[in-house]
Amino acid sequence: MIPTKGYAAQSAKDKLAPFSFERREVGPHDVQFEILYCGVCHSDLHQVRNEWRSTIYPIVPGHEIVGKVTKVGAKVKKFKHGDLAGVGCLVDSCRECDNCQKGLEQYCHVGSVGTYNSRDRKNGGITYGGYSNHIVVDESFVLKISDKLPLEKVAPLLCAGITTYSPLRHWKVGKDHKIAIVGLGGLGHMAVKFAAAFGAEVTMLSTSPGKEQDARKLGAHHFALTTDPEHLAALNSKFDFILDTVSAPHDYNKYLKMLNTNGVMICVGIPETPLEIRGFTLLGNRRSIAGSSIGGILETQEMLDYCAEHTITSDVEVIKMSYINEAYERMLKSDVKYRFVIDMSTL
Ligand SMILES: [Zn+2]
Ligand SMILES: [Zn+2]
Repeated sequence: MIPTKGYAAQSAKDKLAPFSFERREVGPHDVQFEILYCGVCHSDLHQVRNEWRSTIYPIVPGHEIVGKVTKVGAKVKKFKHGDLAGVGCLVDSCRECDNCQKGLEQYCHVGSVGTYNSRDRKNGGITYGGYSNHIVVDESFVLKISDKLPLEKVAPLLCAGITTYSPLRHWKVGKDHKIAIVGLGGLGHMAVKFAAAFGAEVTMLSTSPGKEQDARKLGAHHFALTTDPEHLAALNSKFDFILDTVSAPHDYNKYLKMLNTNGVMICVGIPETPLEIRGFTLLGNRRSIAGSSIGGILETQEMLDYCAEHTITSDVEVIKMSYINEAYERMLKSDVKYRFVIDMSTL
């Protein structure tokens, strides 16, 4: 076993604190890498505090991981010592079901294995994430990272990036489409960048006027205040797509009305409470509401390659490991532009 240092929470009430644990030995298909940066995702906070009621303690969060390969197993083909590597939200799946065969490991029928707080298929232990100094992952779930972009800005692409890229690609959002993005945070700011890069006409919907300048800087063509009834009325039947990134409970019907004929509202945030949808709003304009969860490994690689080619990265604030508990408090207040990333050399 490989001795590993990290940060963990011991219960829903505890703060994250230094923690020592062991990683499995590097198997024939495994890649071990030193973690250089790890992004801080909202779902880290949800799970540390057991808000999805599925947390196994101690928990070492972190699923936006980039680093440098230090060891590879005898049968590894894609990586060698010294290569840059990344791991997102998944470290394994059954690899045999329809969805795994199609590269949709995130929808594995048997159940994919999360990078943390999941049952490891290889040794039955609990997976520990990227708030740590190194990680061992089967090469099939390790991504290649370009050396063209600053690594700290690449880390959030592994969750926030793919979560917004995948639905935009699935619904082929691009030129001739009008799309609205709801929520300007870690996910929302990536959604604006991708939608604009794909050629769509992008409107940022927000409840705070202070966000207009930023939204436009990120690539939004328009900005609308959803607290202003006049603005709202003007948005009826206006969009082909709405990408909703908000994970706090909110009124979906207000946004559904903004969809034009055959429009689709895609939800990537996960409120704890069930959605309340007015059926008549769906019937009008033959609207749909849909969900989307991260992306498969092939598509994640495609997204990373696209970002390297088009110089797309996340806007980040780099922090020390010991700042993580303050960072969570600030994240709750949306006081970050737009992702905290831990410099793992400070561990
Ligand atoms: Zn995440
Ligand atoms: Zn599967």
